[in-house]
Amino acid sequence: PTNAIQPLRLLLIGCPGSGKGTQSGRLEKNFGVSHLSSGDLLRRNITENTLLGQQARQYVADGKLVPDNLLISLIDKELLHVGNTNWLLDGFPRTVNQALALDASLNRIMQPLNLVINLQVPEDIILQRIMDRWIHIPSGRVYNLSYNPPRVAGVDDITGEPLSQRPDDTPEVFKVRLEQHHAMALPLLDHYQNVVVNVRGNTSDEIYPQIEKEIVNRLGALPGAHLTHT
Ligand code: ATP
Ligand code: MG
Repeated sequence: PTNAIQPLRLLLIGCPGSGKGTQSGRLEKNFGVSHLSSGDLLRRNITENTLLGQQARQYVADGKLVPDNLLISLIDKELLHVGNTNWLLDGFPRTVNQALALDASLNRIMQPLNLVINLQVPEDIILQRIMDRWIHIPSGRVYNLSYNPPRVAGVDDITGEPLSQRPDDTPEVFKVRLEQHHAMALPLLDHYQNVVVNVRGNTSDEIYPQIEKEIVNRLGALPGAHLTHT
């Protein structure tokens, strides 16, 4: 068919605390996009003490990058399950090596990326944001005590389960994560220079409409889109 609507294959890039998880949650809710977050997957593996969790635990605690081979096989496995749905990647790839591996996997399943969004948030406001951050580990849902607090303090809105603060959301570990990010960001953005779109703002509320506009402009309405936006 000539008017076939392309499924969304989105990659979100941005420094730690730039709101990748928050934006992903909104896209999931408003467009039914499957959210693949390397950080969420690692934290779940660490909580469940799987072999991968044991291998990754110390790197994550220190704010260091987990070795490429572990991440590449983790995401490959996830991509087998997404099928022909709309999906977005958050936190992967983080290195050019990972990006090359992803390109190869996506070629194999014939689902090339069609949008890469780079979130740009001023660094001076990010530390406060992550200090105010609480997460629900099983789902990856993110709350912020100033911007979007849970309805009941310390409790996930949907499941009623307890929220936690990430052990790597301390000023010390955050500094390491930011340094890691800076070392990796330019080569990665360079790899995607032909498809990357920059969006900028101080809050996720400022940035979200820009992402939505980009998606609609480039891909038209999404199949299965939930049209009641929040
Ligand atoms: P935020 O969630 O605030 O955007 P972030 O991007 O630093 O911050 P996550 O993406 O949740 O956080 O990642 C947490 C940790 O998991 C990283 O510090 C790193 O140790 C590990 N990690 C996640 N994704 C990767 C990856 N693609 N390659 C290597 N390590 C990763
Ligand atoms: Mg995240």
